[in-house]
Amino acid sequence: MAESVVDVADATKTYELGGTVTALDGVSVALEVGSYTAVMGPSGSGKSTLLNLIGGLDTPDEGSVVVGDNAVDTLGEQGRAQIRGTEIGFVFQTFNLMPRLTAVENVALPLVFDGWDQERRVDRAQEVLDDVGLGDRYDHKPTELSGGQRQRVAIARALAPEPSLVLADEPTGNVDTETGTAIMSLLADIADSGNTVLLVTHSRRVAEHAERIIHIRDGQVQRREDVTDRRTPGDRQPDAVLGGES
Ligand code: ADP
Ligand code: MG
Repeated sequence: MAESVVDVADATKTYELGGTVTALDGVSVALEVGSYTAVMGPSGSGKSTLLNLIGGLDTPDEGSVVVGDNAVDTLGEQGRAQIRGTEIGFVFQTFNLMPRLTAVENVALPLVFDGWDQERRVDRAQEVLDDVGLGDRYDHKPTELSGGQRQRVAIARALAPEPSLVLADEPTGNVDTETGTAIMSLLADIADSGNTVLLVTHSRRVAEHAERIIHIRDGQVQRREDVTDRRTPGDRQPDAVLGGES
């Protein structure tokens, strides 16, 4: 069997908020190095919770989460933050950009934690912003950018340290169709160059860009599906529109 970069075993997560909510109920997911996987399920099914556990933003109540050589669930806050900025590129649905920082400064931020010197940080940040089509927006702050441009800055930030694992939570959720296509195309490039990509979406159309779909519902894996007819970004069929996520 191929080597796994992510191994979630029997993870359970409950939240106490006006009653007990079981967000994840015994989920096991293994991602092979270089694979491109989509986690698909309706709103509230536990997709973001699963991604947050893998990305070390949260810890499971039971079960284990291993990323590379790290048992993420046993690391402290600081250890998890370190991995997140450097080994894992995390694209959040809500962008999470620093409002006072420019595009270049936002993208360069994880490189600080990765130990890059100032000059190389700026060069690298500009290079990745060029890649996402924002070569003319280096010095703009988030409020001076459109939603789609902010999402592209967030993607550039996630990719700047060249993480081998990219986690994307509904990355096309808050953007127009054209930006959605550009984002899916970037994710395809990342996967094609041998990195591991895990994409969360509630849209079948978006999920079909991946090699494999893990269907989850009510905090449990329902089934696993190999995508036989993968979609390519920018595919012009009438039903290829990426919009419609929330
Ligand atoms: P999805 O991303 O699939 O829409 P989530 O993983 O965000 O679903 O949420 C799964 C369930 O856990 C939902 O019922 C949600 O309301 C609940 N939940 C998620 N985060 C929290 C939290 N921080 N506190 C309380 N309940 C939460
Ligand atoms: Mg979610």
